[in-house]
Amino acid sequence: MAYYKYGNYLQQEQGAEFDVLHSPGNLTPHSGIYRCEVCGGSAVSTLGNPLPPQGHHDHPAGARPIQWRLVAKAHWR
Ligand SMILES: [Zn+2]
Repeated sequence: MAYYKYGNYLQQEQGAEFDVLHSPGNLTPHSGIYRCEVCGGSAVSTLGNPLPPQGHHDHPAGARPIQWRLVAKAHWR
């Protein structure tokens, strides 16, 4: 999960970039917070760098591998 205190610092958007699931290690398409669709954990990743690898965190035996979804996009203005 990702957490925040002041909602006025966040703005909801409807962009398709929030609907795409990414495999671990793929290049990060947008700097921001990514959520693991399997366990709900989150991580920060920055544009052009690899998303956290499969070994970023453990899942219970038999659970699917990590899939990352963008949940909060960082922007400089
Ligand atoms: Zn996970």
